[in-house]
Order: sequence, then structure tokens, then C-alpha cells
Amino acid sequence: MANDGDSKITLKLLIDARGQKVLFAEAGNDFIDFMFSTLILPLGSIIKLISPATMVGSIGKLYKSVENLKETYLIPNRDKAALLQPTIPCFAGASPLLLAGADAMNQITYYSCQTCHKRVTSAKNINCPTCKKVMSGELDFVLPWSSSSSRGVNEWDSEGGFVKGVITYMITDDLEVTPMSAISSITLINRFSMKKDVLLEEKVVTVGMNEGLALLEASLESQTPLTDVFLAASIKKAIFKEM
Ligand SMILES: [Zn+2]
Repeated sequence: MANDGDSKITLKLLIDARGQKVLFAEAGNDFIDFMFSTLILPLGSIIKLISPATMVGSIGKLYKSVENLKETYLIPNRDKAALLQPTIPCFAGASPLLLAGADAMNQITYYSCQTCHKRVTSAKNINCPTCKKVMSGELDFVLPWSSSSSRGVNEWDSEGGFVKGVITYMITDDLEVTPMSAISSITLINRFSMKKDVLLEEKVVTVGMNEGLALLEASLESQTPLTDVFLAASIKKAIFKEM
């Protein structure tokens, strides 16, 4: 991904160094927002991001079928991109990290009818169904949570997201997210320490687009996505090099 140098998120992992397993991660709102906002991704976007060939199940073939279908079979004015690269509306609250790496996911621009002012569309220069004039008035989108008129689309970065920033969150290897608490973390550590030969260590990792995509993919097919991405990555790379 081109934007890998930008928007890095820091994550603190508690790991079993001997068993090479993540117990849980301590995360700020930026990481939790990233993980939560994967839920608003349209399926077509997820497949495009991960690549149809590696998608779990048969959904990748469904995607490829749309790609391969000749335009002559489509109803006029229908665009395959609506299925293959669906756009995420900016008001949905996707994490800037998610939006930064997804080149297909542009924010939608809206165009209004400047004659009757009754219609709005996301495609430029189509005719207004009410007054038949061309709809070309570009509109700035105001985020729904911008209660005062002084806030607009430019406050996206500071006002986006879902969870509060002052709190630290705990996210387990199988992606259960809760606000961080001493009791819950001690309970988890105790449960983990019941096993023999556990060597608890702290590991700090950074999450950019590559790790984000790997997490998205692992979360669809694994019960241990944090371990898979942050501890098994070096093993995976070694395997790929040999192939
Ligand atoms: Zn009109």
C-alpha cells in the first residue's frame, strides 16, 4: 500500500514469548476505531482490499465473475465499479487509516440541482428527474456529529471514529474489545499463567496499512489474528521467500 508510511498506530502487546502467542493488546482509540470501522466496509471493498484469490470461501469467485462479465450483459448506465469498488460514505465514520490505504474508497462528492434545489446525486452532470436540468452543483458534506455550523468536512480527522480517546482499551487475540481494567487484565493473565512454561513479555508494534490489511484478512479466517499478524509474520515472510 502506498500510504504505509503514514498513519501508523502503536499497539502494546502482552505476549507469551515461549509459546509465541498474544495474550491481549493494550490499545488507544485509534486502533479500536480502525478495527471497529472494518465492520462498515462493503463486502466488495473487503474482497478488493484482500484480493479475490485469497478470500476465504467462494465469495472471491463471485467477485471475479463480475470482473469477467462483459459490459454487453449489463443494463446501460450500470457500472461494475458499484459492485467491485463500492464507496464508503464519509459519514459512516471509517478510520482514517482504513480510508488512507484504500485507493478505491474515495469520499463521495454530491451534486445538487441548482435550478429546483429538490434533488441530489453522487454522479456529476446527470439530469434532475424533477426539472430535467443538469445537476452540477458540488456540495460540501457536513458530518452528522458536527452539531455547530463551525465544523465541516475538514474536521474529519479529529471528529471521526467511534470510541472515546481518553480511555485505554483491551483487545484479546480473538478480538474481544473491552475498556482496559486492572481486574480483567489480571484475570486474563492468571488464566494464561495456569499453563506451564509461560514467559510473559511486553512487545510494542506499529500498525500501518499492511498490518491493518493483514488483520482484516486474519479476522475473517482465524481465532488468533493478533498472534497471526504480529508474531507469525516473520515466519510467514520466511515461507514466502522460500516459495
Ligand atoms: Zn431540479
